[in-house]
Amino acid sequence: MANKIKLGHVHFSGCTGCLVSVADIYQGLLKILDDYADLVYALTLVDVRHIPEMDVALVEGSVCIQDHESVEDIKETRKKSRIVVALGSCATYGNITRFCRGGQHNQPQHESFLPIGDLIDVDVYIPGCPPSPELIRNVTVMAYLLLGGNEEQKALAGRYLKPLMALAKRGTTGCFCDLMNDVINQGLCIGCGTCAAACPVRAITHEFGKPQGDLNLCVKCGSCYGACPRSFFNFDVIPEFESISELIADVLK
Ligand code: SF4
Ligand code: SF4
Repeated sequence: MANKIKLGHVHFSGCTGCLVSVADIYQGLLKILDDYADLVYALTLVDVRHIPEMDVALVEGSVCIQDHESVEDIKETRKKSRIVVALGSCATYGNITRFCRGGQHNQPQHESFLPIGDLIDVDVYIPGCPPSPELIRNVTVMAYLLLGGNEEQKALAGRYLKPLMALAKRGTTGCFCDLMNDVINQGLCIGCGTCAAACPVRAITHEFGKPQGDLNLCVKCGSCYGACPRSFFNFDVIPEFESISELIADVLK
């Protein structure tokens, strides 16, 4: 196997819940840190003050554009990282920070928060509030294989990451409306209920076999669209589910 990759966690306007999801990989995280990745930056966990060169940056939180240091730091993150991963719904879509309007003590001018994709190019999205530990684990393992695996592993990792890269290209807004616009109104919805199961605030119910969204509850996390099997069903990877599961289990043994 290749050398360990340099992994970082870069924290912007997030709640650290995404980092808790990283920790929730439990033994798998210890194995990753033992064998595959050095954690070179994470202000919560590592005493490194300045953003170093990273192979993979897991970026949590949106960016307050009135906070010049944050704006500089996200640009620095892009410059120093081979793969930038928007970790969680604040980084991918703004999420709850979409509702910020400023006016609060002691920085009332901090009123505008953007998903990181509005400021830099992002390679991979891991949506979710919180994002799933399994998905973070899989992306980390696949990024390792993509950067340092053999040709076959690189090809598999590329296929695995492709839909999450496509999500990153698709845009920076997440909402129940995505299901309306891109799934239901396109005649693609099969009424499976996955979107309702994925919604962290139970904004989605099913009526007459089709999802109904309560936009007053929706926190704009984008999880429902990401989880919907009709949003970007990846025919390259899903049939390989067993071999991918075995590969990840092998890597983490
Ligand atoms: S997850 Fe997608 S296909 Fe399934 S009910 Fe929701 S919108 Fe329809
Ligand atoms: S409906 Fe639920 S899952 Fe979908 S964007 Fe809104 S809060 Fe997130």
